[in-house]
Amino acid sequence: MSETILSIHNLTASVDGTQILKGVNLEVKAGEIHAIMGRNGSGKSTLSKLIAGHPDYEVTGGEIIYQGENILEKEPNERALDGVFLAFQYPLEIPGVSNLDFLRVAYNAKRKHQGLEEIDTFDFEDLVEEKLEVVKMKSSFLERSLNEGFSGGEKKRNEILQMALLDPTLIILDEIDSGLDIDALKIVAEGVNQLKTPAKGYLVITHYQRLLDYITPDFVHVMQDGKIITSGGKELALELESRGYDFLDEQAVAEVGA
Ligand code: ADP
Ligand code: MG
Repeated sequence: MSETILSIHNLTASVDGTQILKGVNLEVKAGEIHAIMGRNGSGKSTLSKLIAGHPDYEVTGGEIIYQGENILEKEPNERALDGVFLAFQYPLEIPGVSNLDFLRVAYNAKRKHQGLEEIDTFDFEDLVEEKLEVVKMKSSFLERSLNEGFSGGEKKRNEILQMALLDPTLIILDEIDSGLDIDALKIVAEGVNQLKTPAKGYLVITHYQRLLDYITPDFVHVMQDGKIITSGGKELALELESRGYDFLDEQAVAEVGA
């Protein structure tokens, strides 16, 4: 039996006093890809931010167990050092911080946490050049400020570059497909697939089935109004695609009426 990477029990959470998550349960084992789908506003990003430890979101009940440990009291940076990675739906632009420096500092922080020597700028540049291939990025992107003026696709590729360097255990991709044309989508998906190992677990959040043509999920969960209302295999995503999210409401009505 493979190791459980993430288990979420009855998680409830609020932001600014408004309850957003209303009891989420989820278990991700090593080697598994879980897709989380749902309408806009259903709570997908909130769930991803809670796992990463975003300070604006208050957990009001339940727990998040990562590699056997309740991480709710841990700071976001501690979670990241322990191998939790969140690729943002809207990556921030940070003018004045070079992409290369950002990546090197993050990479070295992780090495230090693992009890390894930090690596110098020259060795790091060699390493990063190798990883650029995964996302088909030009080295000129390293000299620019972090995400500043990057197109939507470039920002998302840069997120995958971070992931390639940091080698996380739990990978959360929040709408990595949003704002991407089909070519950029393929590059991002190929990068993700190339980095997949049996030791990692994935949460792939998406509104559309399209991404799942390229990243094949083992399980699909649908969120609605702060809860996972149904789960299934990859065929569930296809059903949502062909029938639209409204079919879930019809199903709910049918169940109540039965
Ligand atoms: P999704 O990612 O599924 O589109 P979100 O998790 O972003 O959904 O949002 C779920 C709900 O929580 C929405 O109604 C949204 O307006 C609300 N919400 C999320 N973040 C905040 C916030 N910082 N302040 C107020 N409301 C928020
Ligand atoms: Mg979202």
